[in-house]
Amino acid sequence: MPHLMIFGKDIGIDLGTANTLVCRKGEVILNEPSVVAIRKDTKEILAVGSEAKAMIGRTPGDIIAVQPLQDGVIADYEVTEKMLNYFIRKCVKPSLFNPRLVVGIPRGATSVERRAVEEAAFKAGAREVYLIEEPMAAAIGAGIPIEEPTGHMVVDIGGGTTEIAVTSLGGIVAGRSIRIAGNAMDKAIIMYLRRTYSIVIGERSAEEIKIKIGSAFPEKEEEIEVRGRNLVTGLPVNLMVHTREINEAITEPLSEIVRAVRSTLEETKPEVASDIYENGVILTGGGALIKNIDKLLKHETNLPVFIAEEPLFSVAKGTALVLEHPEILKNLKSRKLKSR
Ligand code: ADP
Ligand code: MG
Repeated sequence: MPHLMIFGKDIGIDLGTANTLVCRKGEVILNEPSVVAIRKDTKEILAVGSEAKAMIGRTPGDIIAVQPLQDGVIADYEVTEKMLNYFIRKCVKPSLFNPRLVVGIPRGATSVERRAVEEAAFKAGAREVYLIEEPMAAAIGAGIPIEEPTGHMVVDIGGGTTEIAVTSLGGIVAGRSIRIAGNAMDKAIIMYLRRTYSIVIGERSAEEIKIKIGSAFPEKEEEIEVRGRNLVTGLPVNLMVHTREINEAITEPLSEIVRAVRSTLEETKPEVASDIYENGVILTGGGALIKNIDKLLKHETNLPVFIAEEPLFSVAKGTALVLEHPEILKNLKSRKLKSR
């Protein structure tokens, strides 16, 4: 059955600010940081993904590690195109039956950015490309029955942005995107340690602290040893930091997320809002893994809050899932290779 063979190669892609994931039939087959290492003068690409991320903060002067997607938008679409091309080629072996691709893109992506994503997909051998807005993919991947005539809310907390969307009858009926998410928490931790202890740490250490002992609602006190540099003497120092301090550090970005959820709810029609009070909010994205973020949101909004199973994979799973749902696929913007 040739049709099934073609279908079997189709993939879904979550082009995230922090990580790019490729999913086929519910299984994540690629998961790498959205980072590209480039030689400054010649613009030559030296490494992509995990290999490039390992170079952050360690590159000699003439090599830079860039994140082509920032704050939920494609900041550098030439590099994004090359990165996407590299990831797709890693997953799709050249053959007679070119695959169909579904790519999750930020809700605010411009037509130029959409076009860049499509071009990258065609250059990498796709025969048809479908674009889906990330919050919609997140909702589908998290198991929300989006087609039903009842309102659901999904909050996707990524690296650069938090996307809030209310779905009903297969569409997004309310939502917003704020440029406050995981990276903002890392930056807040850096600022806190600088202000409190005059110690400077890098972004990767800040992220590690957040993941290991961070909590949105401290219950258990944990501690971690941090190595930084004294701002005044310039010398390396070690320091113990505690959960309550990290919680204090990330209070501001967390409150912004809570505020955005509240105001989205206020904008939602009363019928749909009451559906959400019934159905609850589902959290996706890496930021959903911050300890107790569900408790914080529940406490601040009175809504039932759930964390998606494998929240880092929700968008990717959603993009691959729509390939199996023609009724959703037909509503997405698509472009075929020959129609260009
Ligand atoms: P994007 O969609 O922007 O690529 P992701 O959904 O992949 O983002 O989430 C990346 C963010 O999630 C990063 O800021 C990362 O630090 C954060 N993150 C990942 N794992 C955890 C964890 N266990 N605890 C807290 N934050 C986490
Ligand atoms: Mg994402």
